[in-house]
Amino acid sequence: MSPDAKEFAVVAGGWFDGERRHEAGPATFVVRDGRIADIAAGDHAAECARRGLAVTRGGYLMPGLVDAHAHLFLDGAPTDAKVRAEHLKQPLEQLTGAARASARQALACGVTLVRDAGDRHGINNRIREEAADPRSGLPRVRSGGLGVKRAKRYGAFMAADVDDADSIRESVAALAQSNDEIKLILTGIIDFEAGAVTDEPQFSLEETRLIVDTARACGRPTFAHCSGAKGLAIAAAAGVGSIEHGFFMDRGTLALMRDNQVAWTPTFCPVYFQWAHPEAVGWSPQTVGHLRRILDDHARHLQLAHEMGVVLLLGTDAGSMGVRHGHAVFEEIVRYAEAGLGLEAALHAATAAARRHFGLASPVLAKGGEFDALLLAASPFGNPTCLRQPQAVWAARTTGPRPMHADASDRDLSMNK
Ligand SMILES: [Zn+2]
Repeated sequence: MSPDAKEFAVVAGGWFDGERRHEAGPATFVVRDGRIADIAAGDHAAECARRGLAVTRGGYLMPGLVDAHAHLFLDGAPTDAKVRAEHLKQPLEQLTGAARASARQALACGVTLVRDAGDRHGINNRIREEAADPRSGLPRVRSGGLGVKRAKRYGAFMAADVDDADSIRESVAALAQSNDEIKLILTGIIDFEAGAVTDEPQFSLEETRLIVDTARACGRPTFAHCSGAKGLAIAAAAGVGSIEHGFFMDRGTLALMRDNQVAWTPTFCPVYFQWAHPEAVGWSPQTVGHLRRILDDHARHLQLAHEMGVVLLLGTDAGSMGVRHGHAVFEEIVRYAEAGLGLEAALHAATAAARRHFGLASPVLAKGGEFDALLLAASPFGNPTCLRQPQAVWAARTTGPRPMHADASDRDLSMNK
């Protein structure tokens, strides 16, 4: 199980490839140089051991989990507003250390790939570079770098200001140099006391299309922070890559999302936390009622999205108040289950669906593909709590489509002087 072993075997009682369950009997995986060299039905541990391979045994094998929405530089554990505000004031090196700790914690929980949904310092890009080293102990990071937002509107902790069409083109093209995806802050957050999104979208349909098209021309997909009917209609019509949060969803928007291949990352966790712990913010019983109604409505639309064939990505918004990196993936899976989705659908959203959406070369566990996997004590389909404590985690190191690096080319230039 040493990460340095070039070749080893894993014997599991059953396995999930990210899309299908294989539970007719045990299977033996032979892994060579980080890739699945063979998958054989049956328990071939003795034969593998004779060939000198280290063999790890477990109840169930499945792909590493993907948290499609997290903010590594934020610590979700503190729930005191003052402590959270102080955290953000720390020097860059401390915040980078916090991001590293968040990423390690996620990996220990079985999250082998994190899509970071933005930080204003670009710490996520730095953690992504560090994670390429197998000795880093970090999960793979797909980075939203710094996002774009309307000047003077919500999102300063994760996005840069843009205003007119020229500044949109300029900023998106510049950010595309280092970000894997371009994040746009399309709306503000929910006003829980009002029980609604009360401000107007930050960008018009034309402006949102300009962001999407400019990013696409630079080879980058987009993802939109968005809640509320007006913003959702814009995001779906503009064909962003995925809608993040998406509270106050409706059937018409879901139909447009399906037709325009817009994925949805519902992120129940931060709202659920505030409903379950209203004392952390001091919410009144009336606001707690709004939170419950918002969560129930979200659950209904998640089920509807699933039935309609909208691509679902499981993301937690870890780093938000009370949303702990790694641990939150299990909580989000529970929210999917409460909404009426089977565990198979939730685990698909937390594994293969995200990898396919990101365009990764190995979206499922298959012969010839990367070995990016979790070993569990038993089948999660029999005992979901097994997901809380993976026995072993193997994170693939190579990344998907690599960004062009502005600083790398700078270095090349200086070397040519
Ligand atoms: Zn977020």
